[in-house]
Amino acid sequence: MQSRFKRFVKLAISVVFCAVCYVRNVFRRMTGRTIPGSAVILYYHGIRPEERRRFADQMDTLLKYARPVEADFSSSVPDGSRLVAVTFDDGFLSFLEIAVPELEKRKIPTTLFMIAGKLGCYPEWPEYVPDPSFAEPLMTTDQLRLLPPELVTIGSHTLTHPMMTHLNESEARRELVESRDQLENILGRRVTLLSFPEGAFDQKLIDWCRESGYARVFTILPYPAFTKAGEYSVGRVRTDPGDWPLEFKLKLAGAYSWLPLAFDLKRKILSVWTARVMPASTDLEHHAG
Ligand SMILES: [Zn+2]
Repeated sequence: MQSRFKRFVKLAISVVFCAVCYVRNVFRRMTGRTIPGSAVILYYHGIRPEERRRFADQMDTLLKYARPVEADFSSSVPDGSRLVAVTFDDGFLSFLEIAVPELEKRKIPTTLFMIAGKLGCYPEWPEYVPDPSFAEPLMTTDQLRLLPPELVTIGSHTLTHPMMTHLNESEARRELVESRDQLENILGRRVTLLSFPEGAFDQKLIDWCRESGYARVFTILPYPAFTKAGEYSVGRVRTDPGDWPLEFKLKLAGAYSWLPLAFDLKRKILSVWTARVMPASTDLEHHAG
């Protein structure tokens, strides 16, 4: 119930944000200035069989309001355009059985981030919250080879889906390098993209990704994408087939890009709050110890 309320609040703020952007663009047009282009990257996980129609409707909406591009789009966004890239994390079987046929029908390119060491397994990493009514395995090696390479780019989602920020350097480098090598061996082509499990990353990890040879990495912070040509670390917006139609359209329009600013503000407020409260807590700890 609370998450539905939060979702509604986010939607309401995004409507206001979108309206402000619209007015700003009308003003730009009236004053003879160009309207900058926008780009967002969506990320999905699995699609349940009963959600197929909703996913297909979302892809029709995408084609109506935006131009689909690949996640390794490396030019700058043309003025006045709206670009959207579609990505999937984890590699659930429904990607092959449901998403690919719908994307193929509409010629929408996509990038799938696979967990190289978990092919054919059921998800079991610590942060995964199982749904008792629906269990879905990840694709096997043979199923991965069935994906059409002209439509699907494969990226790494690490070897075992850990929280990368919790690993030491050698563990983290192994996740980056071995996952890529295993996927390249299976597919017989280069793997140059990576998405961080649970969106956990820091500057060190980004440096190690560069050193490991990745051309681009993806987070789950809903920043606008491709703000400059060749951008290395790119934000994405979480999307589900169950998104309300207005919610999905707002995501396509980049109207959720205020969220990282809100996260930052929340973090700053919490750090000020903690700084005020901590001395007392530390005293308590010392006395208790
Ligand atoms: Zn994941």
